Amino acid sequence: MYYGFDVGGTKIEFGAFNDKLERVASERVPTPGEDYQALLTVLAGLVTKYDEQFGVKGLVGIGIPGMESVEDSSLMTSNVPAAKGQFLRKDLEALIERPLKIANDANCFALSEAWDEEHQGKESVLGLILGTGFGGGIVVNGHVVSGGSHVAGEIGHTRMPLDAWFYLNDSAQNKDAPLFSCGCDKKGCIDNYLSGRGFEQLYAHYYDEKVKAVDIIEQYKKNDDKAVEHVNRFMDLLAICLGNIFTAFDPDVVVLGGGLSNFEAIYNEMPKRIQPHLLPVGKVPKILKAKHGDSGGVRGAAFLNIQ
Ligand SMILES: [Zn+2]
Repeated sequence: MYYGFDVGGTKIEFGAFNDKLERVASERVPTPGEDYQALLTVLAGLVTKYDEQFGVKGLVGIGIPGMESVEDSSLMTSNVPAAKGQFLRKDLEALIERPLKIANDANCFALSEAWDEEHQGKESVLGLILGTGFGGGIVVNGHVVSGGSHVAGEIGHTRMPLDAWFYLNDSAQNKDAPLFSCGCDKKGCIDNYLSGRGFEQLYAHYYDEKVKAVDIIEQYKKNDDKAVEHVNRFMDLLAICLGNIFTAFDPDVVVLGGGLSNFEAIYNEMPKRIQPHLLPVGKVPKILKAKHGDSGGVRGAAFLNIQ
């Protein structure tokens, strides 16, 4: 039995999965605000409860927005204050008397999709989240590649490619390319351009108007001039950046999640727009919308333990 926890800022979602990877139990509880002991009690309590219910000792995986320090395995997370700086894995392992795995929530999202029936057996699956932020996870042969310092897949914090920069400079009269600052203290991280937030920031930069992404997309569907121009620019920018990412990883399948992944035009536009940015022998991988939506985090967390 595989147990997954998706630990977020406000809620913890639990899921139990059998050997066929079918979900056989679900539970959702609030995340204790700042109280670390309460967090440990909640997690250990759910493990014990379902161990008793199923008569097994389940394998436990945790997905969390953050990552473990390689030096001392303390948890770096800003969105879950109760776990910040804590040795969550070691402390919980002691309580539930078994080893467990912790991974970044974007990695869990990618892993969940990689274990979808359609993609099982594919060598590499790249999961990309076009949500409030832009991030990703790399799965090779069914396992997350987390890297030597647990930052593999943090694609949003790579900087804008030079050709994208020139393109943004040329794409509108009287407007230079915007150099956005990032939460990681650098400038020009693609997180600030390709995320839902970036989509809105770019619109505000070029048209001096704050409009929500969903409203821009509505206007685009009604053929509004500004929205069409904006979407066209965004698609080109996304294609240039994805071209670089695909050249580095050359994944078999790319799965998109997050709010902007519901924008159907992406799936029509990307294949043709990316090709010119690849090496001549490079092929655009299949780009699909994530299937598991909000349950991706808990599924991926549980599947961290699949051998
Ligand atoms: Zn950054």
